[in-house]
Amino acid sequence: MILQLTEKISFEEDGKFRTFLKIPHSSNTSGWGSLLLPIIVIKNGEGPTILFTGGNHGDEYEGPIALRKLANTLKPEDIQGQLIIVPYLNYPAVLAGTRLSPVDGLNMNRAFPGNPQGTMTSLIADYVFRELVLRSDVVLDFHSGGNSMIFEPCVVMHELENQEQMSKTIAAAHQFGAPISLVLRELDSDGMLDTVTENAGKIFLSTELGGGGFVSPRTLRIAENGIKNILRHFSILAPSKETVPETRFMETPDIGGYIMASSEGLFEPLVELGGSVSEGQVIGMIHSLTDIDVSPVEIHSQTDGILITRAGRAHVKNWDTIAVIAADLDISKFEI
Ligand SMILES: [Zn+2]
Repeated sequence: MILQLTEKISFEEDGKFRTFLKIPHSSNTSGWGSLLLPIIVIKNGEGPTILFTGGNHGDEYEGPIALRKLANTLKPEDIQGQLIIVPYLNYPAVLAGTRLSPVDGLNMNRAFPGNPQGTMTSLIADYVFRELVLRSDVVLDFHSGGNSMIFEPCVVMHELENQEQMSKTIAAAHQFGAPISLVLRELDSDGMLDTVTENAGKIFLSTELGGGGFVSPRTLRIAENGIKNILRHFSILAPSKETVPETRFMETPDIGGYIMASSEGLFEPLVELGGSVSEGQVIGMIHSLTDIDVSPVEIHSQTDGILITRAGRAHVKNWDTIAVIAADLDISKFEI
């Protein structure tokens, strides 16, 4: 099934348009019901097209809030080019406040490029990739740590083979102005919006802005300023005299960046987010829930760097990612 919009928009016309992606959703209380996923398009003249998405995971909130505010306040005459704004990408998950869709249990960020024969998450991914990603020059997908993780706020990119695409991505990350710009090595990149957008030759950035199922004034400010900075960087908004805050380029090392829980229990962190750690340092302990006499399990950093992510819940299970360490990155190797 190819999903349709409630009101067709041309994407070629100047102005501000709001429409909804109509997603058939049969439930016990509404046999022939639908979910209506909002899409806002703002265009003025010639210029780049940028796609902003939030709510890829339904328990990450800076993107949805910042993008709602942007969609409600920005006027066509403010810009040169086009914005496509999708504040609630995995809409059923956003409505439920969950990472995964409660309808089909799928992770939206492993469902791309989508499947018109698939279930709801794949149908949304299929529409978004074909109709929105492929017509865009730049895609910015907002994430946070969700209910299970907390991040030191960062804008995120991947190492790309195409050097020109990489250097444009680095330049855009620089101008976003997050405290940290992170080149992330994913544990599992198949099916990500990131991967399909990068493979289509677009400029793609993501964020990790906090987490724990809440927003803070700081993380929301970083999201909203980042949006403005990126729009100025691509000349969609006029330049400003405001200076972009300094960012620190970092990467997740090949070995030792991701630290998993080695047992179930209560995780006691010993390092604040953003704090420096050294190889071998005890960064936390896991206290057994079943054996009251046993000593806690020490969690060691396997590399030097800073603590960029930690578990957002104290009760952790075996093999949960409970910490991520990032190291400083020399970006000069990426510049053409
Ligand atoms: Zn996410």
